[in-house]
Amino acid sequence: MKYRALAIDGPAGAGKSSVAKMLAKQLNYTYVDTGAMYRAATLKALALKVDLDNPESFSFLDNTKMEFMHEVLYLDGKDVTIAIRSNSVSNNVSVVASHIPVRNRLVALQQKIADKNHVVMDGRDIGTVVLPNADLKIFLTASVEERAKRRHAENVSLGIDSDLERLKKEIERRDQIDSSRSYNPLRVAKDAIFVDTSAMDLGEVTAMIYDLYKKKIDEKEEQPEWKTTNNPIKN
Ligand code: C5P
Repeated sequence: MKYRALAIDGPAGAGKSSVAKMLAKQLNYTYVDTGAMYRAATLKALALKVDLDNPESFSFLDNTKMEFMHEVLYLDGKDVTIAIRSNSVSNNVSVVASHIPVRNRLVALQQKIADKNHVVMDGRDIGTVVLPNADLKIFLTASVEERAKRRHAENVSLGIDSDLERLKKEIERRDQIDSSRSYNPLRVAKDAIFVDTSAMDLGEVTAMIYDLYKKKIDEKEEQPEWKTTNNPIKN
C-alpha cells in the first residue's frame, strides 16, 4: 500500500507546526515534527556534555530511541515536550542539525515513519530530501517580526521564559545557519507551493493547504497509473 505524504517546509516560526498539526487532525494522518527530533538530539548532546561542534560526537544517536506517540516525542522513553523548547536547546540546535551524521540518522528515521503511515511532516528539508515524492509540498514563510511574535506566543502558552527581541535575533541567526549550511540546507523545493503567511491567520493558511491537498489527491486518484508515468504504449 502506498502511503500519502504532505510535506511542509519553511523557516523558524512560520507557523508550520500549528498548521501541520491541524491538517494531520483533519486528514487523520500522523503528524511528524522533525524539528523536535533535531531538538531532542541537541538535548541529549547537552546532557552528555559532548562537543557540539564535532560531528563525531553524535555516535550516541545509534543507541538513542526517538518515538512519537499522539504527537508527543519520547526520547529514550521520556516525554521531552518542554525540555526541547529550552533556550539552550534553541540556541544550539542549528549547529547540531548541520552535522552530516546527525542528518543522515534522523532523515532515515523520518523516512521509516513515512513508509508505514500517511503523514503530514514539517521541517526544513522534507520536500527536498526526506520525502521528494510527497503528494504535495508547501513552503511556508512570514516576516521575521511575525515569526518572532508567533514563537513568543507559543512559548508563553507552554510556560517557557520568552523575550520577543531576543527571539527575533535568535530566529535570524537560525535562519542564517539553516539556509547556509552545506548539507541539505533550507531551500524551496522546485515543485513546492510558496505561501507567505505574514498577513494570514493560521486557520486561513490551514484551510488553503487543505483544499490544495484534497485537489491534488483527487486528481491523482482520478488518473490511471499509465497516464501519470512514461507509458511506452502510444495511440
Ligand atoms: O522546527 P524547529 O524550529 O523546532 O526546528 C529546530 C531546528 O532544527 C531548526 O532551526 C533547524 O536547525 C533544525 N531542523 C533541520 N531540519 C529539519 C527540521 C529542523 O535542520 N527537517
